[in-house]
Amino acid sequence: MNIIMVSSECAPVSKVGGLADVVDGLGRELQNRGHTVAIILPKYDCMEAGEIIGLEVEMTDLWVPYFTEVIRCSIYKGIVHDLKCYFIEPQSEQKFFNRGVYYGAADDAERFAFFDRAALEFMYKANIRPDVIHCHDWQTGLISVLLSDMYAKLGMQNIKVCYTLHNIKHQGIASPKVLDMIGLNHKEYLRKDRLQDDSRPEYINLMKGGIVYSDSTNTVSPQYAWEIKNTDEGYGLERILIEKDDKYQGILNGIDYDTWNPEKDTFIRKNYGISTISDKEQNKQALRERLMIAQDNKPLIAAVGRLDPQKGVHLIKHTLFYALENNCQFVLLGSSPDKEISEYFWHLKYYLNDNPNCHLEIDYDDSLAHMIYAGADMIVVPSLFEPCGLTQLISMKYGTVPIVRKTGGLSDTVFDANSIDGKRQNGFVFNDFTYAGIEGALAKATDLWYKDSAAFKTIMINAMSCDYSWNHPAESYIKLYRNANES
Ligand code: ADP
Repeated sequence: MNIIMVSSECAPVSKVGGLADVVDGLGRELQNRGHTVAIILPKYDCMEAGEIIGLEVEMTDLWVPYFTEVIRCSIYKGIVHDLKCYFIEPQSEQKFFNRGVYYGAADDAERFAFFDRAALEFMYKANIRPDVIHCHDWQTGLISVLLSDMYAKLGMQNIKVCYTLHNIKHQGIASPKVLDMIGLNHKEYLRKDRLQDDSRPEYINLMKGGIVYSDSTNTVSPQYAWEIKNTDEGYGLERILIEKDDKYQGILNGIDYDTWNPEKDTFIRKNYGISTISDKEQNKQALRERLMIAQDNKPLIAAVGRLDPQKGVHLIKHTLFYALENNCQFVLLGSSPDKEISEYFWHLKYYLNDNPNCHLEIDYDDSLAHMIYAGADMIVVPSLFEPCGLTQLISMKYGTVPIVRKTGGLSDTVFDANSIDGKRQNGFVFNDFTYAGIEGALAKATDLWYKDSAAFKTIMINAMSCDYSWNHPAESYIKLYRNANES
C-alpha cells in the first residue's frame, strides 16, 4: 500500500512528545513490511535539521490559497531515520513555522489549517495519490474535510483518510474564519453534525472535523478509547465518538526497538539484555556520575516527560520528597511551556541543589532520557489520564520497573501482582490520583527492592520480556487501512 502520513511531529527531527515517536516508529515498521511511506511535515525553524539526510528543494512555487490571496510555499524533501519526508515552508510574512517553538502561538489553529491545505495542494500538484492519508491529532483534522470538500472533485476521490487521536484534550477550537482562510465556506461547516464545537457553538472544532470526515478514527490504546467515549475524559467529543462508533477503535502504540533497545543503544555506557541484566548496574553508575548523585546502595526512581498537569506533576513532586525521606534517590527529566510549572521546578532544583540523592534536569534532552531509562531502577508515571504513554513502554524494555496510575494505556500495559487477568507482574499500579495512592505503590516497589532483590529482578525480567514493539500494532493499522479502502 501507498501511505502518506501528515503530522505536526516526527522523531527525531521535530519531537515534542509521543506523537513524534509514533509517526516515526509506525512509519518505519510499515516501510519494513514493504509498504511505501512518506511523511508531510511543517518546516519549523526550530526543528533538528541535522537529523535530515539529503535535504533538497522539491518544489519552489506551490501557491496555496489564503483568504482571497495565495501564499507561495517551498517544499523540501529529505530522509529522516530512513523515512522519506516532505517539509512545507510557507514564504509569507506570517512566518507560520518560524516561531522558535512547535506549538503555543496564539494563531496555532491558523498555522496548522494552512499546513493542511498546503499538504493537500502539494499532493495534488505533485500527483501524489496514496491509498491512505494517515492524519494525527487536531493539527491535521482538516485534511479529511478539505479532501471531501474540494480535492475529491479534482481526481483524489479514491484516497481514504485514517485519523488517529493521540490526546483528545487538545482539539483545535478556533474561529470559523479559519475555514474561510483555507477556502472552505464556514457557513456550511458551522453545524452540529459537522465542525461546530458541541459546547461552544460559535467556534469550530478541528478534531471533530477529523472524526466526522475521516474514513476511520482510532486512538492509541483500547482503554483510552473506552474512557474518551464513555466518560468526561472525552472533553466534549464523547457524543460524536458514540455516533461514529462503527468506525472507531483503540490500537495500542508500540515503540521502535531500533531506537529504544538496551542491547544496542549508543547513548548508554554498557549495552545489556535479559541474559546480561546485571550490566544495567553500570548504567546506573554512569547516570549518577553524569548527574552528580551519590553512588550508594539505594534505589533510583526517575520521572521523564512533559511537566503538564496531565502527567500528575504534584505526584511527581511528591515522589521526589518520598524518595528523599525513604532512603531512595530521584531523577527528573522534564520541561514545560507553562511558566508557573517551570518556575516551580526551577525553584525546587535550586532548593535541592546540594542534595546528593536527587537531580532535576529541567530541559528536553534525548541522550539523557536514554541514560535514565537504562540507569534508573523504577520510573513513575502518575498521569491523570494517559492516551497510551510511551515512557512506561520504553522503561520496561530497559528493565526499569514502572509505577503507574491505572488509566488509559498505562492500565493496558502495566500489570501489578494482584492483576486479575493472569498477566505476569511487570510493574506497580495504583488507582487514586492522590499522595496516598502513589505512596502505596512506591512503598511496595521500594520495599521489594530492599528486601527481596530476586523478586524485584523477576519483575524487571517480566517487563523486559513484554513485546511492545510495532509488530502487532502495525498489523492492526494495515487492517484499518485495508478496511477503509474496501468500504
Ligand atoms: P506525551 O506524548 O504525552 O508527551 P508519551 O509518554 O506518549 O507522552 O511520550 C513521551 C516521549 O517524549 C518519550 O519518547 C519520552 O522519552 C520523550 N520525552 C518527554 N519529555 C522529554 C524530555 N524532557 N527530554 C527527553 N525526552 C523526553
